[in-house]
Amino acid sequence: MARTRLLAGNWKMHKTRTETVEFAEKLAHLSSGMTTEKAKGYPELLVCATFTALPGLMEPLQKSNTGLGAQNMHEADHGAYTGEVSVAMIKELGCTYVILGHSERRMYFAESDAAVAKKTLVALDHQLTPIVCVGESLEERENGDTSKRIAAQVGAVLDVLKTRQDVVSERLVIAYEPIWAIGTGRTASKEDAEVVAKAIREQVKAELGDHVADAVRVLYGGSVKPENIADFLSEADIDGALVGGASLEAESFFRMAQNSAL
Ligand code: PEP
Repeated sequence: MARTRLLAGNWKMHKTRTETVEFAEKLAHLSSGMTTEKAKGYPELLVCATFTALPGLMEPLQKSNTGLGAQNMHEADHGAYTGEVSVAMIKELGCTYVILGHSERRMYFAESDAAVAKKTLVALDHQLTPIVCVGESLEERENGDTSKRIAAQVGAVLDVLKTRQDVVSERLVIAYEPIWAIGTGRTASKEDAEVVAKAIREQVKAELGDHVADAVRVLYGGSVKPENIADFLSEADIDGALVGGASLEAESFFRMAQNSAL
């Protein structure tokens, strides 16, 4: 099955509302000369902004065919959860994606595999596309525990999805992001990233079947930039990239889109 490539920017806690609109206008300008024929080969584009920047950002992003996502959400529909935001709240602002279980949330906000799995189900249940992040620490990698760690993180999500045949698990996106590669300038080799991406797809196949495994998109994340994105995308099981630092400037984001076009 041909999977649509995805280039997703994770802006983390960067950019005011004004700055996000400036980005959107710049990106629209950069992509304005593109022919329809050329645009067909481009990956699906997405930026995930902070909650405060989401209102009013969907429209300016539409000028460059870029989608909008959030960086987190709570699993409950509503309730006494001070400081949290629900799925309906982000959907109302035009989000079609949500990043879940980013390593920074797991590390600094104690998000467990079980919590990430619950949120994934809620997102799918509400027709939102979850980008579930998984990845090993440097210590786990050096101890030879990479595959065990990834399998546990992915397994927690699949165990929950298995219980719900009615949700469209095909929409799931899994981002393999080795923690030691995030924001460090170091990347996994494309071969190592492919080994993990392939193992993730095999695990999805074993738990949810061929059809879901063929459809699920697996991204690589960790110091991706315009100069190296094409290398990762040349691998059979890598369907796109989740990018932090290099997604903050419209020029660099657009160059990554160009360099990942088919
Ligand atoms: C990320 O935040 O998900 C990420 C991969 O960051 P960076 O591209 O800066 O390493």
